[in-house]
Amino acid sequence: MDVERAIARRLTYAYIAGLALIAMLSGAVHVLLNNVIVAQGDSATVINVAGRQRMLSQRIGLLATYLHGGDASARQPLLDAVTLMERSEKALTQGGDLGIRQTLSPSAHRFYQEGAAPLDSAVRQFVLDARQFADPSPGGNVEAAYKRLQAAARTTLLPNLNQAVSIFESESNRRIEWLRSAQKVVLITLLITLSLEALFIFRPLVGRVRRYASSLYELATRDSLTGLVNRRHFMDVGNRELQLARRSGRPLSVVMLDLDHFKSVNDTYGHAVGDLVLRRFASIAMATLRTSDVIGRIGGEEFALMLREMSPSEGTLVAEKLRAAVAADRSEGLPAFTVSIGISAVDAADKSLDDALRRADKALYAAKGGGRNRIVVVMDD
Ligand code: GH3
Ligand code: MG
Ligand code: MG
Repeated sequence: MDVERAIARRLTYAYIAGLALIAMLSGAVHVLLNNVIVAQGDSATVINVAGRQRMLSQRIGLLATYLHGGDASARQPLLDAVTLMERSEKALTQGGDLGIRQTLSPSAHRFYQEGAAPLDSAVRQFVLDARQFADPSPGGNVEAAYKRLQAAARTTLLPNLNQAVSIFESESNRRIEWLRSAQKVVLITLLITLSLEALFIFRPLVGRVRRYASSLYELATRDSLTGLVNRRHFMDVGNRELQLARRSGRPLSVVMLDLDHFKSVNDTYGHAVGDLVLRRFASIAMATLRTSDVIGRIGGEEFALMLREMSPSEGTLVAEKLRAAVAADRSEGLPAFTVSIGISAVDAADKSLDDALRRADKALYAAKGGGRNRIVVVMDD
């Protein structure tokens, strides 16, 4: 029992640990998804700002052309576009503005800051030239600035800004791929954990609980000495049978049995032999009766029997078989013993099994009075 309890305790701990693992994995999935959603939001902002840089480079080129051609109304929009491009460049490379929180990834950083013609300095030069052209400082070369900015807008800047966008896009895609794999790993781990838990923890746990419940049921319904059902269970089953018999109109007989002179068996051979006689009686009864007949030990050496679908006269045949088998029994080491029997039908007026048992008990009393080792039947009450 201690071993059983230790195993049950171990299984319970394992079950709790399994549940905790599943809870942790679910929590991890939540955190993972949350981080990825935030990161994807950030990626979308970066891609958006980088795409706008591309658009601004073309707008600045166009507005500069208008201004160069004498359209002074293009100056302010040009200056605005330059300011926005400068601000976007700072946000992209340093973070902390326009909804961009992180700084550049290593590969984007290489592209923006390193190599022979880093994009960041190209954009800065472009911004510088555009401002020099739109709002010249004294001594600056406006025409040269105009030429440089047009050349950059048309040739070098656009493909580089395009590449920046595709770097940000492929970084975002890589992150999604990583998320997919992480999700797969977590899902598989969850399923494996659940299956292992079901197979090695839950199933044995349920099996144990079921076995334990059935052993409790046996304890609660059986008499431990004879293995027959105990008084309480006999009364439960009997009352159910009584209701069924009343509803169906089929006959039902109840039988009371009491071992004869049992006190003197105990007195002569000792209590232990008395116990063996009780067990012997139970095994003779079980061998003689149908499996559908319910026999219970309802007192020390008193037994009761329910014969389904039998009238008292039919029941007498069964009872006689049992009485004769007991009387003829000669078991090694046991004294001969006999049983007296009273039989009554359950009738329509009976409210509970007790009513019928009382009549059978009266018949039993008559059998005792008549000399024992015999059967008395209440034919009509
Ligand atoms: P009768 O023929 O009139 O039934 O006589 P009896 O001696 O069988 O009746 P009585 O009721 O006087 O005695 C029943 C005895 O059964 C008394 C009790 O010690 C014994 N007894 C009751 N339960 C047990 C038990 O579990 N084991 C044993 N060995 N004896 C029991
Ligand atoms: Mg008795
Ligand atoms: Mg007796």
